[in-house]
Amino acid sequence: MSKRVKGNNAFYFFMLDWRNRNKCQKSLKELAADPACSEEWQNLTPQQKGFYQAKAKDSKVASQGVRDKKTGIGESIQELEAKDKREQEFQENMHQYINSVVAMGMQHKNLSKLKFILIHVNWFFRRETGINQYEFFPAEFAVAEFSLEDGAQNVYHEIVNMKIPLGWRSDALEISLQTHQIPIEFKEGQSDFSLMYDKLTQILTRNKTGNKFPPLFTTKDLTLAVESLLIRMTDAAKESIEEFSVYSLEALFGALRNGSAQNVNNCSIPLVVAENEFGKDTFFSVSGIECDYHKIIDGTAQYCSQSVVKRWGYTICDYCCEFLGIEMIKGVHRPPSPLSASNQNTVDENISNRFKNLNIGNQQNFVEINGVSTEHRRKVSERTYKEEQRRRNESKPIQIIDHSKLNATNPSSSFIANGPSRPLRLPKTESYAFKDMNESSDDLLSDANFPPLGRGKGTTQKKKSTDTKLTVGKGRGFL
Ligand SMILES: [Zn+2]
Repeated sequence: MSKRVKGNNAFYFFMLDWRNRNKCQKSLKELAADPACSEEWQNLTPQQKGFYQAKAKDSKVASQGVRDKKTGIGESIQELEAKDKREQEFQENMHQYINSVVAMGMQHKNLSKLKFILIHVNWFFRRETGINQYEFFPAEFAVAEFSLEDGAQNVYHEIVNMKIPLGWRSDALEISLQTHQIPIEFKEGQSDFSLMYDKLTQILTRNKTGNKFPPLFTTKDLTLAVESLLIRMTDAAKESIEEFSVYSLEALFGALRNGSAQNVNNCSIPLVVAENEFGKDTFFSVSGIECDYHKIIDGTAQYCSQSVVKRWGYTICDYCCEFLGIEMIKGVHRPPSPLSASNQNTVDENISNRFKNLNIGNQQNFVEINGVSTEHRRKVSERTYKEEQRRRNESKPIQIIDHSKLNATNPSSSFIANGPSRPLRLPKTESYAFKDMNESSDDLLSDANFPPLGRGKGTTQKKKSTDTKLTVGKGRGFL
């Protein structure tokens, strides 16, 4: 029986070697049937065979790299599987970190003092750099230290000025216009990413636990944008991105809420509910907490990164402080006011001025909340004495009809009892109203008024109704 000559088994490599040594011109198939070659193979020591087996193994590994299966969009399945595994491990580590930190906080009764770093990024556009890999061009970001005791504080905010590459300006302008409205290549913005790295790491350094930077928390939809920003900063500062980890803020929110509530209400919420609740952004309309730039641009406060990180703080406090008995202080755990400071002052003044005039005892000075005095309202809208007298004189007494006491003399009851006084029109005869009309029904329903379908433009030529033929059964209806 001949051995397999194809593929990458040890005998295949032995045959190649044997052919070279013996300067033989035979094909591999012929060699496999050659008794001299087979005999030598059989007589090899295990060590000698091992040499060819190792060659076969190396070849197998190498060929696997070439033959790696790809997905429909050209991704290596092997790499995808490895990536999935890494992602799974990352998620497990993240949840383990969050849960252990919260559990320790509860155990040591200092959960409200624990600090977490929050980060939000706005961008101009993103471009694909590989399969499912993107590079984001940042417009603005904000980093805040958050604790249940102090809310979101020490905010580091920056508007970024960076060169927009050719061909991307319209995308950048469009996204800016639809959201944050930060001008592209904004002169007042910061363009030194190395400096931004230093400022960010200052915050992280003072919150270090051990020799590692604490993780940065952001929402699920911003993770890639934050990672992209960190890559820019670390590249500029010639530092390693490995020092940073970006974790899920929704997961932190869920763990903090469940940790805070566990001694009061043992109903913990799963991650999916926490994500949903957090995504509602209950405080999105709060103004007065945005950055200086967004304070002057109407209708953009909700997109401002500084405003967002503060609102995240309010949302977490809203769900946790009550359980931990933390007093909700305005501007720390909850919004300073629902309106911006300037607007709030104006409204407050208007309301207080109007209430100053609100004197129930003195009808003359009474000013309603809409600013119109009762006296003025009466003067312009009430009837005069004369008008009122005339109206009363002209009025007729109210006639009351009691239908239960009506007898057969009533026309309607007589109709029911005796039938109609005039016989009804015979069936299939024209109505009187119709007879009086100038045009006959044929004229009204002519082709001029209702041109047949499918003949292009309507015709003004008057035709008799009998000329209109309906073609049935050809599948196209009217012709
Ligand atoms: Zn802003």
